[in-house]
Amino acid sequence: MDQLRIKDLEVYAYHGLFGAEKELGQRFVLDVILDYDMTQAAKTDDLTASIHYGELAQDLTHWCQEGKEDLIETLAYKLIDRIFLAHPLVQKVSLEVKKPWAPVPLPLETCSVKLVRQKRRVLIGLGSNQGDRAANLDAALAKMAEQHIRLVQASGRIETEPWGGVEQDPFLNQAVEVESWLAPQDLLQTLLAIEADLGRVREVKWGPRVIDLDILYIGQEEIYSPDLIVPHPYAAERAFVLQPLLEIAPHFVDPVRRKSIRQLWEAVEK
Ligand code: AMP
Repeated sequence: MDQLRIKDLEVYAYHGLFGAEKELGQRFVLDVILDYDMTQAAKTDDLTASIHYGELAQDLTHWCQEGKEDLIETLAYKLIDRIFLAHPLVQKVSLEVKKPWAPVPLPLETCSVKLVRQKRRVLIGLGSNQGDRAANLDAALAKMAEQHIRLVQASGRIETEPWGGVEQDPFLNQAVEVESWLAPQDLLQTLLAIEADLGRVREVKWGPRVIDLDILYIGQEEIYSPDLIVPHPYAAERAFVLQPLLEIAPHFVDPVRRKSIRQLWEAVEK
């Protein structure tokens, strides 16, 4: 993809673990690369269709001087958040934060961290069968919006019978497509924190729940880690997942089963 780069922007700021670093400050050097489609800007010669690198350099300087972080990782993460928020065009940010005056009494050129984050389209399944179910789904969506998870489209809500053999009230289910720059593990932790915030207590497996948020698909990615499996292992077997998905993403292809949502829906037991 097309890239804008600001190489080695120097900023005097006050980040570091040591008190002296926060008091005296030091030089930081930022190397940032933004990926976005420049076709529109190139064809119209219009600055508003692009990103003004002068303003971006000013903003980065200002954002860098706003607070005092212990870690340059935290600084980089917050800067990336600010960039995505300020520039919806941007699809990917690569940011290196260098500390040439790092408090290490050895002859080194610089200590640095580099964070790379990219936007992904994610399909999420929501369910609730306790309390005011519609209000629970609304609250979960509102909290997602506050946490770098932007709603792209939402299905209608359907009432479904509980699954998994536990005697309980019917569910209200929904599927949404969102866009987020959070890395998959970070996205999972964010969704688990929202579930906990809304009062979810994990008692019975497949039992009643105030809110359930499942990552169904992250584009065509496949993830098999101890706490995150994507595509969601049961997505294709559950009508209550596929029915709302059919509404918003009928042609999306499951990367493992190599079938579209429509084909999976036609094959699932209803
Ligand atoms: P559940 O009780 O069905 O909501 O399961 C939640 C647990 O499943 C979480 O603690 C996750 O670590 C794990 N998990 C694995 N894959 C996924 C996924 N794709 N989406 C949500 N949770 C997942």
